[in-house]
Amino acid sequence: MRLKVGLLGIGKIARDQHIPALNANPRFDLAACASRNASVSCVPSFPDLDTMLGAVPDLHCISICTPPQAHFDAALTALRAGKHVMLEKPPAATTRQIALLADEAARRGRTLFQTWHSRFAGGVDAAREFLRTRKLVSGRIIWKEDVHHWHPGQRWIWEPGGFGVFDPGINALSVLTEILPNDVCVEGALLEFPQNQQSPIAANLRMRTEDGVEIGAEFDFRQKGEQSWDIELQTTTGAIKLARGGADLSIDGRSVTADESMAGEYPRLYQRFADLCEAGKSEVDWRPFQLVADAFLIGERRIVAPHDI
Ligand code: NAP
Repeated sequence: MRLKVGLLGIGKIARDQHIPALNANPRFDLAACASRNASVSCVPSFPDLDTMLGAVPDLHCISICTPPQAHFDAALTALRAGKHVMLEKPPAATTRQIALLADEAARRGRTLFQTWHSRFAGGVDAAREFLRTRKLVSGRIIWKEDVHHWHPGQRWIWEPGGFGVFDPGINALSVLTEILPNDVCVEGALLEFPQNQQSPIAANLRMRTEDGVEIGAEFDFRQKGEQSWDIELQTTTGAIKLARGGADLSIDGRSVTADESMAGEYPRLYQRFADLCEAGKSEVDWRPFQLVADAFLIGERRIVAPHDI
């Protein structure tokens, strides 16, 4: 049976990734979309979720591509309407909201797929397998991009619940928590807030694994020139580097996997969503979100130069 999907929030990621992935997947039928200011050609379009649910009652699932501040209300509404839900990252504005959504999905017997798209990047599975039997010594994350290039005009990212530089940074933490054989906690953080914005433009995290191994992370939205989305991990028997957001893996400097682009992530996400819906299961893991929340809780704050969106 083809799953009829309603897509909510037609912005950059919906157009760049969700619509092409849905159109290419025979297990889905993009049956409707809802967005206040946008529509999708040849797909019935509605101004909001409630109108879409009323007009197309036989939708099986709702895929939510709005900013995180709008995730909770939409996901709750969709679950209460009996739909399966796929949720973009970051999963919500607060950690408690995710717990409530997971409870609601379980109570209603619906699928909640709380996604971390970077976990589906080409090098991630092999990195996890490499680390499974090795002893970690140290690690560092360098996640630096030009916000003007990647998030042009996105005001929500600077507002409370918008995550600032953690909007991309949480992708690194989603990969880290996926590939490490044991857990990791935040021990300290420095968050830099532009004088005129409410979310951080840069952050440094000091993390430590259960075994006491230190892992540092540098997130920065002010990167010009070469962009970096890299994770480097040193073990007693070799070192790995995941580059380009997890797409490329090298072991001891030798390239092992190299994805052409992030083009594979969303097709894999939707395959997983279809599998979960068919199996009647949910997938929720808020550890990356907890790391970000903990950085906000214990991080030192520094005010830096104003930033124009
Ligand atoms: P975007 O370009 O701003 O699009 C989001 C759309 O959601 C908006 O165009 C807007 O469309 C709608 N929306 C609903 N409620 C909103 C609100 N309260 N504030 C602002 N817009 C609202 O953002 P995006 O880049 O697609 O990102 C959306 C989500 O996907 C985020 O959680 C982000 O982290 C995630 N994501 C983004 C990327 C990327 O490369 N951009 C990659 C992976 C994941 P209407 O005005 O028509 O309602």
